[in-house]
Formats: sequence, structure tokens, C-alpha cells
Amino acid sequence: MKYNISFHPTTKSNLDSVDFNNIPFGKIFSDHMFVADYYDGEWRDLRIVPFGPITMSPANLTLHYGQAMFEGMKAFKNQEGAPVLFRPEMHAKRLNASGARLCMPELPEDLFLQALHELIGVDHAWIPTNSNSSLYVRPFMFATEEIIGVRPSSSYKFIIFTAPVGPYYDKPLKLIAANKYVRAVPGGVGEAKAAGNYAAGLLPTQEAHDGGFDQIMWTDNRDYQQIQECGTMNIFFIIGDTVVTPETNGAILKGITRNTLIHLLRDKGIKVEERAITIKELVAAHHAGTLKDAFGAGTAAVIAPVNEISYYENKDDANYKTIKLPTIESRDISISLKKELQEIRTGLRPDPHGWVHDVKVRDVATV
Ligand SMILES: *Cc1c(COP(=O)(O)O)cnc(C)c1O
Repeated sequence: MKYNISFHPTTKSNLDSVDFNNIPFGKIFSDHMFVADYYDGEWRDLRIVPFGPITMSPANLTLHYGQAMFEGMKAFKNQEGAPVLFRPEMHAKRLNASGARLCMPELPEDLFLQALHELIGVDHAWIPTNSNSSLYVRPFMFATEEIIGVRPSSSYKFIIFTAPVGPYYDKPLKLIAANKYVRAVPGGVGEAKAAGNYAAGLLPTQEAHDGGFDQIMWTDNRDYQQIQECGTMNIFFIIGDTVVTPETNGAILKGITRNTLIHLLRDKGIKVEERAITIKELVAAHHAGTLKDAFGAGTAAVIAPVNEISYYENKDDANYKTIKLPTIESRDISISLKKELQEIRTGLRPDPHGWVHDVKVRDVATV
């Protein structure tokens, strides 16, 4: 191990208080967190400590100007009951890509990976074993300098904490295409997992909910016709025998699930196109009977089927139209794709791409 990470175990584990058959989403946190502080040009004081509050000055730059970003990933148990991580190095790279866009310091990839492995190694008992449950892992970085001035902070905190999560309830989604708000534009911060992106999405999403929809289907800012993502997921369509997903053009978050699904589809010899796709093309395919499937893709849901898409033919139209997609049961490709990915992640199926990384268990009691 290259880095020296100190370990301060909790004196009272909360593990016994959790009902793993009924986990409220995102409200239960594991015993420990990894913390590192950046100042004077270096990451310092690497430590695993009990999960708990952090204090900060009201002048903390993050609170005012939002210099903050995060990652989201999951840990699983394999068939031997040992902890594993899925493509952690991709998350390390994306964390640094987000950080670069937000003028934040690089976190060495090997430090990210070592911290992740040691933390999961300590709290491995928090990984649920029920099917489709997992330990959600939340790495994030934010500015900590205390100064009222718009400029990059000279100090930062990087934290990883984890939360057991139950199965994602995949009710098929009703989407409404955006015709007023935009999530991202090329050259903006939509490609980064910048905290502010999610604040900007709250009002559009709330209005979509008020209109009876589950999620926004984000579109471009020129004529609101070019499809980008849905909610906080990448979006895929199956038209005829071809899988189509918007190309990453600076306004699309480069999802690791997106990348993984593209690999798995191409492995099976299924044609995947990463290209611009418009609402017009989608509607035309629907009327021609060739639009077979639409789904969101992201770490939380893996694949979330879409069963209705509402859209405005022209951006100034007062009324939307709705297309209904084929029944969920008919969607052979996405159903088997989801199963395949879930089986690779939990060791039920071979992992030809080397995506699954074993985590060494650390016996907390003997430390
Ligand atoms: C995180 C995220 C995704 C999905 O990325 P994964 O790496 O697959 O979890 C897609 N879109 C947005 C906007 C996101 O924030």
C-alpha cells in the first residue's frame, strides 16, 4: 500500500440497528468514512474515521459558489460472499475530469483506489446480500477555503462515505421532453458531476412531477429537439435492430453504465450507434413501428425502462403529444442486458473485461 491511511475505528457500530430487508433509500450510513484534506498543494491527513458531521465556517467557498462535485458507485458481494467493486478506476478518472472542469486539484487515482478499497474493506459487513441490493458509495470533493471572493479555493476536502441500498423499484418511466429548461450545453459543466447541475435540475423535475411525469427528457438549448439524457441517467433507444444513444458532445454526462452497456451490446454483435437523435426521428420510428425500446441507464437503476414519452412538436406549442412504447415484457434486449450486468457484478457470470475488482476484507476487531 503506497499511502499511509490512519484508521480510527468507531467505538459503537450501528450495523445491528439496520434491517437489511427494508432499507430506507439513502438515509442509513455505514460506520466509517474516508477523509483527506488538501492544502499547500498536497493531499494530507489521510484517515478513516467514524461517519459523522463535519464543521465549517459560514465563509466556506462551497456554500457560496458551489465548487463541489461527486461520484456515485456501488460495492457488491460476489458468490463467495467477498466484497467487490465495479470499474472503480473509471470513477477515479471521471472524478478528476469533473475536478479539472471546476478548477479543483487532482486526486491521484491510486490514492482514490486505495482509500476506496480500505474503506470497503473495513465496512464490508454493510454490503447487503439480498438480490439487487448493494452498498452505494459516494466519493465527493468540495472547497474549504474561508474567503468571500470568486476564485478557486486553495484548500479542499475529499470524503468517501457509503450507504446500504435496497433494490431499485423500477416502475416504467413516463418522460416529458424539456421545452423550456436545459440541463447542459456543450462547453458548460454538464459533463462534470458538478453539484450545481443537480440544484439546477430540481425545479424542472418538480414541474414534471406536477404534470404527472416521472422524469424530464433533457434536450438541447437551440430548438429543444435533440435528445440528451433522462433525469440523471443516460438514455438509450432501440430502433429496428440498432441501439442508439446520444453521442457525448460536451452536454452529456459520460456514464460508466452507458459505457458498460455499449461494450456488452457490441460483445453480442448488436449494433450500437452513438450519434445525435431528435424527437422527430423518435416519433417517426414510433409511427413506423420500429421504436422497440427506450431506457435510462445509470448506476442506481442500471436500466430503467421508459414506457411513455411526451413531447412538444415545436418548442412553442401549448400542448404535448404522447407516444406509448411497447410493453416492458417485450423488451428482450434490455431485460437480458440488465440481468447480464447484474450477474457480472456479483460474480454469477464471467467477467471478460476485468471490470470486477476484489476488495480485501479488513478485520476491524483486531486492529
Ligand atoms: C451520474 C450520472 C449519469 C450516470 O452515470 P453512471 O456512471 O452510469 O452512474 C448520467 N447522467 C447524469 C446527469 C449523471 O449525473
